[in-house]
Amino acid sequence: MAVQVDVQTFFHFINGQWVPASNNETFDVMNPATGKLVAKVAKGTAEDVDSAVKAARSAFDQGDWKNMKPNDRANVLYAISYKIAEHAQELVYLESISSGGTVRRISNIDVLQMVDLFQTLAKFTLEYPFSETLPVPPFPGPAHNFVWREPIGVCAAVTPWNLPMWIATWKIAPALAMGNTIVVKPASYTPLSTLKLAEIISEVVPPGVINVVTGPGAEVGETLVTHPQVDKVAFTGSTEVGRRIMELAARSIKKTTLELGGKSPNIILEDADLNIALPGSLLGVFLHSGQLCESGTRLFVPDKLYDQVVQGLVTLAGKIKVGNPQDQMTDMGPIISKKQKETILNYIQAGKQEGAVLACGGKEVTVPGCEEGFFIEPTIFTNVTNDMKIAQEEIFGPVLCVIRYSHIDEAIHLANDTIFGLAAGVWTRDVNKAYEVARKLQAGTVWINDWHMLRNDAPFGGYKQSGIGREMGKYSLDEYTQLKHVHTSMVPELERRSWYGVLFGQN
Ligand code: NAP
Ligand code: MG
Repeated sequence: MAVQVDVQTFFHFINGQWVPASNNETFDVMNPATGKLVAKVAKGTAEDVDSAVKAARSAFDQGDWKNMKPNDRANVLYAISYKIAEHAQELVYLESISSGGTVRRISNIDVLQMVDLFQTLAKFTLEYPFSETLPVPPFPGPAHNFVWREPIGVCAAVTPWNLPMWIATWKIAPALAMGNTIVVKPASYTPLSTLKLAEIISEVVPPGVINVVTGPGAEVGETLVTHPQVDKVAFTGSTEVGRRIMELAARSIKKTTLELGGKSPNIILEDADLNIALPGSLLGVFLHSGQLCESGTRLFVPDKLYDQVVQGLVTLAGKIKVGNPQDQMTDMGPIISKKQKETILNYIQAGKQEGAVLACGGKEVTVPGCEEGFFIEPTIFTNVTNDMKIAQEEIFGPVLCVIRYSHIDEAIHLANDTIFGLAAGVWTRDVNKAYEVARKLQAGTVWINDWHMLRNDAPFGGYKQSGIGREMGKYSLDEYTQLKHVHTSMVPELERRSWYGVLFGQN
């Protein structure tokens, strides 16, 4: 059980200091497992966003931060990783009481991944080609040419409520690794752990390098992503808001990366090892109550195995214990909010109306001691067709759609028949077959005989409307740098310059 800490009022974190909202307003952060108030948080204004961006701007423009040597910067990233490990218990607690994630998952996955992310990017920073030399070309004349990779400047990160602090580090770590400064706007359901993270990080970076402003997306978020002194925008959240952010960023051509929704297809082949494929497929959709963007929400099952697979899934789903995420025995915690719970129940209703059959779940759960919380049973729909609303729209809840297929080409066609392309998966004992299917799946990540295996050295991001750009690994470093070509002529004589005769003719 995590340690209780006092969470009262949280302010913005700007220029290394806690700063209240300019109008002193706050908003409430609730625990989705209990419905109880856990903290009050500064409700930001345009003025607050401006202060945070100015702090980040001056830390970038005036400070030594951007000019640090790669090995010094790598040491800072290592120092951050140790700070996160040192403060793990408090971070896990703050994350769990606001996001509803189980302490078991957050402490065993999220925190370890965050520590490893900073260490992985530290290693990539040491190897990063900050300056590359191009070969001396015969044309247009001998010259020394370099390609430099430079930080972009002030980055704005807008983050979601499902994995608040982990996803924040997907943006903070590469931004800092490459010498940028950053302002983070966390989701209003879950700002606490990001604020704590900023405080911890600020112990080893100069003031203004990391800042957090809290408050509603439509005001604080929009002011941030349109601020003239912001150079880059990184967003994770819904496709709808992603579209809006891209439109806003377009006005001043800000570099933009987006990690958006998904409706990831998961294909079981006839020769799959069902002992692993079944629990693996349920992990793929029920981890964090289905509130993960790369969840495998559409399961394609061959005719021959259909009844066996459905029966096996229902039996296993019955073993998943829904409960208080603070309890180490809990497998699945709550839904983030009452509103989101209603949305999910409406999708379940829509599924029934469209003719899908509930194999299990579909209802709210009352958890003793958490009667005011927002819990939904692990839910499995059979007889789903890929054109149904529940198979096309991102539900972001514990709802699995099982879709029957007779030939693998049909499964691949249906798997790709979606606007999304975040992740996909295939279960088979035949590795060659797996690669053939993986090649045809339109997704940024394909898992073979596995799910949710994000790696800090692998790129993560979406095909199609699931996003633009990649996070994690050396790939993320490219998103936080810009290229500069530097040319130095090696020809001292004017007459030998290739351009001389072009403009000056016979003279
Ligand atoms: P969202 O509206 O996309 O929110 C994500 C972040 O964007 C939050 O920090 C939010 O702030 C901010 N935001 C909202 N409107 C904004 C705007 N106009 N300009 C700038 N920032 C803005 O996501 P949500 O409403 O929390 O969840 C809705 C759906 O998003 C879910 O059902 C799910 O489909 C999807 N989702 C996807 C992911 C993912 O990892 N891909 C994560 C979470 C949610 P506020 O919190 O203050 O509104
Ligand atoms: Mg929203």
